[in-house]
Amino acid sequence: MSNLFSSLKNAYRLFKHVDFQKLEELSKKVDLPKVVDSFSHLDETQLSGLMKMLGSPSKKRELPPIEGDFYHLGDEALKDEDRALQLKVRAFLEKEVKPIVNQYWLKAEFPFELIPKIAELNICGLTYTGYGCPGRSNLMEGMLAMEMARVDTSISTFFGVQSGLAMGSIYLLGSEAQKQEWLPSMQQFKTIGAFGLTEPEVGSGAAGGLTTTAKRTGNTWVLNGQKKWIGNATFSDVTIIWARDLDDNQVKGFLVRKGAKGFAVEKIQDKMALRIVQNGLITLTNCEVNEEDRLQEANSFKDTAKVLRMTRAGVAWQAVGCARGAYESALAYTRTRKQFGKPIASYQLIQNHLVEMLSNLTAMQTLCFRLSQLQDQGILTDEHASLAKVFCSMRTRDVVSRAREVMGGNGILLEYDVARFVADAEAIYSYEGTKEINSLIVGRAITGFSAFV
Ligand SMILES: Cc1cc2nc3c(=O)[nH]c(=O)nc-3n(C[C@H](O)[C@H](O)[C@H](O)COP(=O)(O)OP(=O)(O)OC[C@H]3O[C@@H](n4cnc5c(N)ncnc54)[C@H](O)[C@@H]3O)c2cc1C
Repeated sequence: MSNLFSSLKNAYRLFKHVDFQKLEELSKKVDLPKVVDSFSHLDETQLSGLMKMLGSPSKKRELPPIEGDFYHLGDEALKDEDRALQLKVRAFLEKEVKPIVNQYWLKAEFPFELIPKIAELNICGLTYTGYGCPGRSNLMEGMLAMEMARVDTSISTFFGVQSGLAMGSIYLLGSEAQKQEWLPSMQQFKTIGAFGLTEPEVGSGAAGGLTTTAKRTGNTWVLNGQKKWIGNATFSDVTIIWARDLDDNQVKGFLVRKGAKGFAVEKIQDKMALRIVQNGLITLTNCEVNEEDRLQEANSFKDTAKVLRMTRAGVAWQAVGCARGAYESALAYTRTRKQFGKPIASYQLIQNHLVEMLSNLTAMQTLCFRLSQLQDQGILTDEHASLAKVFCSMRTRDVVSRAREVMGGNGILLEYDVARFVADAEAIYSYEGTKEINSLIVGRAITGFSAFV
């Protein structure tokens, strides 16, 4: 009786965790007695190896974080206060911009409700001193351009036009009175700026070929001509117009105020890239501007070029951000998307794409990091900025196209974000000097021969 009782007890211990329904299902699929017989021939080591293997699927595997900063530029090379600002801007973009951006991109409209929130970040005119500007490093400015473009290149472009091209023109080339009037309010986004250089028939050749004219009579300048592609121009409070002085043939800059007589703007429709950015076609018809609104230190195109040199580094950083956003989205996708029963990230060919993307991204980031250091040391040249713009805009095209590729069909759907990065990379490729023009600048510097014409 006691033997029977102990046998029953042992049997209970053995079988109390067994799910008999599962056992029954399994017995329909495999020959259970044969499986048990095979297992009984295994030695201790083989059995413990088998148990380890069987135990692993129930444990949730910890995957590494999704991180496009592979060489730790943000968390290692930045000062604590800079890193904190970087993370603050990132959190803002993730929370406020990311959820709404595809909707606005599709409608080709600008999310005006974001402007006061961007102002609160206090990052506009980041590198300038005085006029309410924070006076931080160029490196920090570059990193923030990347952070913005990582979520949305359009918002980054809007910001770049305001903080870089428009405020930068006034900061570098304006009189003290002009700086006092515009910079504090632009820093807080109370007034919005635009930068009008390109014309319908003159893009790459702007240095020597501007056709928009300026004629002075007494204290008044009269501007005539057209400007194309001008970001923010449909709602800007001040647009900097670059025009050729008919008297000395030199390019000069003019602060044209909203509502000026003879100043008309038409929104450029149906873009396939940066659809949130409001680009305008400006027509100037005998548009009158007072001498006080001429940029007092802009006397030739060489002065205009000072602004472009400063902002071109920012565009290279934007390209990094666009590539990083695409890479991180694609990496996340490949880890959850399953085909043939396994995440596609576990396949060698997919990993090859991911590593190529990360190599490009890391090369771009480290190059831009050094570029900004040169800028902070005050030794940045045109060719330094141009090389970064050429390299980063080319590599970004490669990264975004691989990101789109590893996402299959979903890679062309807006809701997965990568499609937007693919399209926006095309605008980065062309603006602030095309690949060819920036290559010619570098080519001239390294060979000593100008191949422009
Ligand atoms: C989305 C977007 C936003 C923009 N925002 C602004 C803005 O806010 N303000 C502003 O002023 N401009 C702006 N631009 C204009 C931009 O800077 C120009 O598009 C750019 O400079 C190229 O000029 P383009 O489009 O007229 O091309 P083109 O100059 O006509 O060039 C066409 C092609 O010819 C090549 N090419 C030209 N010359 C040479 C040469 N000598 N040798 C070899 N190849 C050559 C070019 O590289 C390019 O591949 C913006 C453009 C875009 C697309």
